[in-house]
Amino acid sequence: MLLAAAWITGAVPGPSQPRAAFARSSKKKSSSKSKPLPAPVAQSLRTYTGPNSTRLVLDLSRSSGFRIEADSAANSFSVIVPKGVKSPSFDPGALDDGAVRSIAADETSEGFRLTVRLVEWNAPRVFGLEGETGQSSRVVVDVIRPGQAERDAAERVRVDRLTANARRIVVVDPGHGGEAVGAVGPKKTHEKDVTLAIAQRLKAELERQPGVQVVLTRSGDYDVPLRERYKVAERYQADVFVSIHCNSSRRRTGSGTEVYFLSMSSASDEASKALADLENNADKVSEGPGQGTDDDLAGILYDLKQTESMQQSSVLAESILGEIEAGRRLEVRGVRQAGFAVLKSPTVPSVLVETAFINNPTEERLLRDPGFQQEMGEQIARGIVAYLSRAPILPRDGRTGNSAPTPPANLGLAR
Ligand SMILES: [Zn+2]
Repeated sequence: MLLAAAWITGAVPGPSQPRAAFARSSKKKSSSKSKPLPAPVAQSLRTYTGPNSTRLVLDLSRSSGFRIEADSAANSFSVIVPKGVKSPSFDPGALDDGAVRSIAADETSEGFRLTVRLVEWNAPRVFGLEGETGQSSRVVVDVIRPGQAERDAAERVRVDRLTANARRIVVVDPGHGGEAVGAVGPKKTHEKDVTLAIAQRLKAELERQPGVQVVLTRSGDYDVPLRERYKVAERYQADVFVSIHCNSSRRRTGSGTEVYFLSMSSASDEASKALADLENNADKVSEGPGQGTDDDLAGILYDLKQTESMQQSSVLAESILGEIEAGRRLEVRGVRQAGFAVLKSPTVPSVLVETAFINNPTEERLLRDPGFQQEMGEQIARGIVAYLSRAPILPRDGRTGNSAPTPPANLGLAR
């Protein structure tokens, strides 16, 4: 039996449309005088498999309304773009990843239809995004992976085991991921790929140290909202949170390494502020519209714990930059401060390393080079280890009977 019902309708906002367009229905809203727009063309589909969900991103040639038709009995739903057509090169791919069983694309009398079969029925989360070119638009669909409760339980076990047994816990955060590609180099190198490669090498280096355990905020090519990243560090009561990024400047001559820690008031300079704005922007893609910002944190930032962990953060930043300087490969631009959302843990010393400039052709070449990635991983690891050798070992729940409560949190995309 078909239980199909249109239950989500959206509109992808065009470049000149206000954000509120998300809430509007796709029914006609343009004036009858205006020229008819060309049919929206479904150009491509990208898929990203994460631990808790799979993200599908449909590229359209122009902003367009869309609606969702669900058939929960058949474990499937369709994204329908009225009057939409399919590009000859459109390939839905052959995804079967434990959350999605299959994807098919068709042109029907109504328009373009993308049908997604799920392993198990879960209502998808759908939203529209303005395209990067200012012309195209994207429809983003998040499908929840079955077994969330089991995954949450397994993670709680891991948190308990590590917090009770590890002498030191370092959370390494590969910047960006999935549809949030980060900065792009002249040879089309994506920041998200470089940050993951360096983070994995950094993890391996750190774990050669006895008593050090490393947790990655992502281990593949998928989105993780900024807030979720530092929440991982808090959940594990980590000694260090380090976020890995690549810099980018308007001119191609920018070069060298910067290490940041949080500023609660203003950035150390205009360029730092612009960079933080750029990095924080990633959440527009990761979280979609209408999600909370980190402004609610402002109230809890100004306490003693925060002051203490910010002092530790500055020591950590100096230690990492010192090791990179000793490597003598890159210019060292200094330790700076700015309002990076990912550094806003009030309790965990946190830094962000802008390893090198991906839009500088020379440094892009380095960033792509596995030898350089390894070198950078080793240098950051040495900086962290030097810091840890001097930093106090703080009590953790389950280790010394410290009773500070840690609310269980969920790393899933569903909120
Ligand atoms: Zn970045």
